Amino acid sequence: MLLTITTTQSPATDLGYLLHKHPDRFQSYDLSFGQAHVFYQEADAGRCSACLLLDVDTVGVVRGKGAGEGLLAQYVNDRPYAASSFLSVAISQVYGSALQGRCNDRPELAAAPRPLSARLDILAVRGGEPFLRAVFEPLGYVVEAERHPLDDRFPEWGESPYYSVTVSKTTTLSDLLTHLYVLVPVFDNQKHYFVGDDELEKLLAKGKGWLSTHPEREEIAKRYLKFRSSLFREALARLIDEEQPIEAEGASDEQPAEKVEAALENPLSLNEQRLGSVLAALRASKARKVLDLGCGEGKLLRNLLKDKQFEEIVGMDVSIRTLEIAQDRLKLDRLPTNQEGRIKLIQGSLMYRDRRLEGFDAAAVVEVIEHLDPPRLLAFERVLFEFARPRTVVLTTPNREYNVTWENVGAERLRHPDHRFEWTRAEFQAWAQAIATRFGYSIKFLPIGPEDGELGPPTQMGVFERD
Ligand code: SAH
Repeated sequence: MLLTITTTQSPATDLGYLLHKHPDRFQSYDLSFGQAHVFYQEADAGRCSACLLLDVDTVGVVRGKGAGEGLLAQYVNDRPYAASSFLSVAISQVYGSALQGRCNDRPELAAAPRPLSARLDILAVRGGEPFLRAVFEPLGYVVEAERHPLDDRFPEWGESPYYSVTVSKTTTLSDLLTHLYVLVPVFDNQKHYFVGDDELEKLLAKGKGWLSTHPEREEIAKRYLKFRSSLFREALARLIDEEQPIEAEGASDEQPAEKVEAALENPLSLNEQRLGSVLAALRASKARKVLDLGCGEGKLLRNLLKDKQFEEIVGMDVSIRTLEIAQDRLKLDRLPTNQEGRIKLIQGSLMYRDRRLEGFDAAAVVEVIEHLDPPRLLAFERVLFEFARPRTVVLTTPNREYNVTWENVGAERLRHPDHRFEWTRAEFQAWAQAIATRFGYSIKFLPIGPEDGELGPPTQMGVFERD
């Protein structure tokens, strides 16, 4: 398995300082799973390429371990040839100072971005080229991928999952190595060489500043942590917590995305109309125990608290930071004694079945579903309608058709940069109707905000009821 790092910025041999490896020498390192060798394919002022060759000792790796997975598979596998978590380990041990951005002799070199490319021979790309691109391209890399046939002598056998992959970008060497360190194991389906409890800390430390805003962060964290769901959930919560609000286009420092969305909707005071409609639906349902799912900073919760009909109120959100704001705004630590215990805030994700959500009369899901990735909506549907299963669900979401009436949104854009989709009335109604049928609910649709004859209302609401 070979990782080749190339730069073309003159004097390209600076790469030797950055990697702490002299271009004239062939150097070998003993690692716990075999050997790593570093040598230069070329090293002149215009172009310099350093190779890290892993020589994985498959026999040594299994020695002393039980024959758990079948003896043959332990010895005959792609570990010596394909990039995997072994490469991450080698990067951290052989290129450790470069990974950390240290260059004792020439510190200024480490901080300077330069045109760099990393070629991996070879990478088993689980998820294929689209996933490969979805992982590297949002980070600004140009991706070249060449897929290898299973065997050139037998073209009829078709393609293999193995690719030669080159990713290129003008960046610091430390950033490039960090991205490879975290992302290479993500493509690999085998049991990871590492993945202990400290793996989460490593992921979060190495992912700082880029992973929390990566569109594939969930998939990356999940694969990196090998589907160990407890670690994954914690990673996700902490990643999301670290996330800075994404700014809408045209938003200045004083106008983060939430404010832009609020300002847009403000002349209508749509927010208040939405709260009013949701409250009315909850009151009409005669619910006493209510959930506010994706409660945000607690606007609905504040109104629920004011109404004695609601005896038990639980607000849930995935973002700990948002929950802290809600806690503050609702002054939950200063509630009068007779109100204590009436309201609770919990952190959790609507992607996972959660017993804390069971046993409620009604749930509000206000402007939340459009923040969920469409493939994950399926999980949400089961979590809410199959497992939590409140008698009433009051759910709102933007009506995309209405966006054209706002000059600064128009037909093409969404109202908020974190929205994964916005639905037309027909799309929302088809989705909601299918859920109602599948889980045994009836459904009513109600408009929120001033209705346009053709485009409908700015917000759409569905009220689900079961007997
Ligand atoms: N209901 C609130 C907030 C809407 S914004 C209101 O109307 O003001 C969407 C909220 O959903 C955010 O607070 C976000 O943190 C939360 N959210 C996004 N994905 C979530 C998930 N998977 N589980 C729980 N909450 C989520």
